[in-house]
Amino acid sequence: MIKLFDSKTRKLVEIKPDNNELTMYVCGLTPYAPAHVGHAFRSVVFDVLRRYLEDLGIIVKHIENITDIDDKMIDKANTEKIALEKLTETNMSEYFISLKKLNVLQANKYPKATEEITTIIQMINTLIDKSYAYNVDGNVYYKVEEFSRYGELSGRKLEELIIGSRVDPDPNKINPMDFALWKKMKPNEPSWKSPWGLGRPGWHIECSAMATKHLGDSIDIHGGGQDLIFPHHENEIAQSEAFSGNYPMAKIWVHNGLLRLGEDTMSKSTGNFITLSDVLKKYNPDALRLFFLSSHYRSPLTFSDEVIKGNEKAITRILQTLKKQYTHTSTDKIEFINFEKQFYDSLNEDLNTPKAIASIFELIHEINKGISEGKNISDARNSILKMCKILGFKLDGNNSNNNEINSKNLYQIFETLKTIYKVDLTMYTSIDYDKTDHTLKNLIEIRSKLRSEKRFKESDYIRDALNNNGITLEDESNKK
Ligand SMILES: [Zn+2]
Repeated sequence: MIKLFDSKTRKLVEIKPDNNELTMYVCGLTPYAPAHVGHAFRSVVFDVLRRYLEDLGIIVKHIENITDIDDKMIDKANTEKIALEKLTETNMSEYFISLKKLNVLQANKYPKATEEITTIIQMINTLIDKSYAYNVDGNVYYKVEEFSRYGELSGRKLEELIIGSRVDPDPNKINPMDFALWKKMKPNEPSWKSPWGLGRPGWHIECSAMATKHLGDSIDIHGGGQDLIFPHHENEIAQSEAFSGNYPMAKIWVHNGLLRLGEDTMSKSTGNFITLSDVLKKYNPDALRLFFLSSHYRSPLTFSDEVIKGNEKAITRILQTLKKQYTHTSTDKIEFINFEKQFYDSLNEDLNTPKAIASIFELIHEINKGISEGKNISDARNSILKMCKILGFKLDGNNSNNNEINSKNLYQIFETLKTIYKVDLTMYTSIDYDKTDHTLKNLIEIRSKLRSEKRFKESDYIRDALNNNGITLEDESNKK
């Protein structure tokens, strides 16, 4: 059975679901800006975890929240002079389109904080009744000293945290580490009625309320990025466990590593990011997925165009192998069981996707060898399809319906050449992309010109982009 690393106990924990059912809560997006590639990394990691659990016959109830009210949301809505709902809708719909391209399974529900205000207020009320929270003039705070396990998840001691936080103490708080559950209304802020006056919820309580409401007091897997361990998840534990009296709120805490861009973590708040939709315009979504899964999910990953381009080639290699003709009748079959076993063993070992992917490519190698030796590869081929499905690869280049190049793909290739590769296409401004044959001819012409100018990076892009759309270019001389 699968073992996952639990951030709280810092140990591998075996997943043993009751009745083959399991609950998973993943902290989702704060949609004040378009999603970046780091968000997709998280989504793909938890998607593969879910796909694998489902392959093992486990029914996964998966909830992912939308933080549609917090400081950043309010600031952005105010500066852009748009309604919060509009901001949420714009960025979430773009994110959902990207997730679909990436073949990420939909969560059972994406609850929004603003739709759960009643649940949030009830939870805060109970925390006040149980003396875990206090109201100061319309602001409600959580009393961290009241919760003896505070710091257990992040491995921090309350005393040390207090020393570190004494720089700018809030006079309302009993302890500087106390955090807001309910924030009193300020001018130009949306607000809701509550027993403590008009105001809005703090970020941490939103997740506690939504997790409890949709999945109950005890969740099997609670997930999110490593940047959420402190204070967000630490505070969630304090709120939820104090509220329900149940321990632990989550059996396993799973945290993915962070995506880096250059020297720093990719982050919207620092401006160091690339939007997800831009990356998906440039690359095959399967290649981006392969990029995320080629490193272990708990390790930091550095965004690199070069690596993703390499991943595009790797995906093409799988597709080309799957398309090859072979002898169906030969009784000499390729042995695939060991590769499949290695694949499952790797995933059982804290979702070791890089090792699992290595098994796929080893089997691809065997298949290619087997075809040239006239062996029957049929079962091995099915095994590749099965393993790729668990990792969520669409392999839609393999689907004959998608093999035909269309005007949209062609337009995209031209745009990429222009904007990313800076190829001068002024000669082709009046192109009619709907005339695919003609456009294709132009593209091949552009490629030969680029090759004659020794611009191989650009000419290779055209070859690979066409390849992804089922068109293989054979060069007379095999020089690039
Ligand atoms: Zn959360």
